[in-house]
Amino acid sequence: MAYEEPEDFDLLVVGGGKAGKSLAMDRAKAGWSVAMVERDKVGGTCINVACIPTKALVESARALETIRRAASMGIDLDGEPAVSLEALRHHKESVVGGMVDAHRQMFIDSGMDFIMGTARFIAPRTVQITADDGTVRVLRGRDVVINTGATPALPDLPGIAESHVWTSETILRLDRLPQTLLILGGGYIGCEFASMFALFGTKVVLVQGPAQVLPREDHDIAAEVAEILTGQGVDLHTGTRVASVRRAPNHGPVTLTLEDGSTLTGDELLVATGRAPVTAQLGLEAAGVQVTDRGFVDVDDHLRTSAEHVWAAGDVAGSPQFTHASWNDFRIMRANLTGADTSTSGRLVPYTVFITPELARVGMTETEARAAGHQVAVAKIAVSAIPRAKTTHEQTGMWKAVVDAESGEILGAALLGRGAGEVISAVQMAMIGGLPYQSVRDAVLTHPTMGEGLNLLFDTLG
Ligand SMILES: Cc1cc2nc3c(=O)[nH]c(=O)nc-3n(C[C@H](O)[C@H](O)[C@H](O)COP(=O)(O)OP(=O)(O)OC[C@H]3O[C@@H](n4cnc5c(N)ncnc54)[C@H](O)[C@@H]3O)c2cc1C
Repeated sequence: MAYEEPEDFDLLVVGGGKAGKSLAMDRAKAGWSVAMVERDKVGGTCINVACIPTKALVESARALETIRRAASMGIDLDGEPAVSLEALRHHKESVVGGMVDAHRQMFIDSGMDFIMGTARFIAPRTVQITADDGTVRVLRGRDVVINTGATPALPDLPGIAESHVWTSETILRLDRLPQTLLILGGGYIGCEFASMFALFGTKVVLVQGPAQVLPREDHDIAAEVAEILTGQGVDLHTGTRVASVRRAPNHGPVTLTLEDGSTLTGDELLVATGRAPVTAQLGLEAAGVQVTDRGFVDVDDHLRTSAEHVWAAGDVAGSPQFTHASWNDFRIMRANLTGADTSTSGRLVPYTVFITPELARVGMTETEARAAGHQVAVAKIAVSAIPRAKTTHEQTGMWKAVVDAESGEILGAALLGRGAGEVISAVQMAMIGGLPYQSVRDAVLTHPTMGEGLNLLFDTLG
C-alpha cells in the first residue's frame, strides 16, 4: 500500500494508557524523540472513566455512611444527609478534570509530540493517524508500544442492544440516581458500583451468573462480601442466568427475564460482565502483531509482541486489569529498552475491590495454594478484634492469610475491612522480602492502627 513518507521517532506510543504515557514522558525527558497518539482520553482510562472517578464517588458514599452513624460517635446532626446529584457530579468532574489538565501539561513539559487522534497500523512499526482536526499523519517508531486498553463488553443477550443499558463508563455521567438499579455481573466492578449506589440510597439488585460474587476469591471471603452487600440493602441473585433484556417504551423501566422465567425490573441496568481488549480497527495484521485466542495482543514475559521492536502493555496485552499492573509494565519496558533484562515473571500484583469496607488481596488464595501443592495453614481474624476498628465503629469484615505450614512463607492474604487497601502493602512487602509470617507476627507495630491487626492475624498460627 502506498503512503506518504513517515515521520520517524525513537519511540511511538499508540494509546496513552498508564504504561504508554509513563514511558512516553520518561523517554522524552531522557532526550528520545517520542510521539504518543491518544484517541479521546487525555491520561487514559484510569483517570477519565475508571479508577479515579469511581474512587471519588466511593469516597462520597463513604462520607454519607460516616455521617449516618455519626450519632453513635457523639455527633449530633440535624436531619438526614442527602445526595445532591449535581454536586456529586461536580465533585467527580473536578477530580477528573484536575488530573486531565495536569496530564496535558506534563505531556507538553516532557517534550513529546502528543497527538489527539486515532492510530491505525499500515505497515510494520508504522501508523497512520487521523488527528482530531482532520489532518492525517504517518509516523514510524524505531520502537513502538501498543497500549490501547480495554473497553466494556456487552454479553450477547436478546434485547440488550436496544435497551439503553449503562456500562461502567456511561453510568459515570451520573445522569440520574435511579430508584432501582439492576446490575448484571458480580465481579469487582459490579460489586463496587453495587456498594456505592446502595450507600447512596438506591435499591440495587445484583444478578450474578456464577455461584458467588467475586468468583476468583475463596468461598469464605466471597460469602462475607455477599453479607456486607446484603447488609447495605443489595438484593443479590447469585447462580442466576439472564435470558433476555427489555426496556419499556420512552425509557421506561428495564426488565431482566431470567432463565427460570421470572423477572426483575429496575429503572436502569448496569452491565458489568467484563472488558474486551481494544484491538479492532488497529490494523495489527499490517504491523505483523499477533493476538491470542481471546483477542489480546500476544506478548512474551518481556512484553515483546510477535513483531520486532513492537511492545504491548496494560489491559490490551492481557496484563492483570489494574492500573498498577500497567504501571509496572512501563518499568519492565523501560528496563528492556535501555539495556536491562526484566520480565513479568513471578511479579506479585495485588488489588483492592473498593466496596465499603474494601477487600484487598495479594498472592494466592487458599484454594490456589492448596492446588499448588502447599501444606497450608490459614490465619483468620474478625476485624472486630482489631482495637482501631472499635474506635472507628467500623468492625465489619475479616482478615485471612495463607501460609506454607512447613516454611512459614506467606503465600497470600485477603483483608476485608476498613483500610485494607493500605494494610495489604505491608503484607506484600513482607512477601517480597521473603519474611516468614513469624517476623510479621512479632514485629512491633503502632497501636492503635489497622496495621497492628497483622500481629493479631499471625498470632492465630502460634
Ligand atoms: C469502573 C472501573 C474501575 C476501575 N478501578 C480500578 C482501580 O480502582 N484500581 C485499578 O488499579 N484499576 C482499576 N480499573 C482498571 C484500570 O482502569 C485499567 O486496568 C487501566 O486503566 C488499564 O490501563 P492501560 O494502560 O491498559 O490503558 P488505558 O488507560 O485503558 O488507555 C488506553 C488508551 O488507548 C486509547 N486508544 C485506544 N485505541 C486507540 C487508537 N486506535 N488510537 C489512539 N488511541 C487509542 C484509549 O482512548 C485509551 O485512552 C478499573 C476499571 C474500570 C472499568
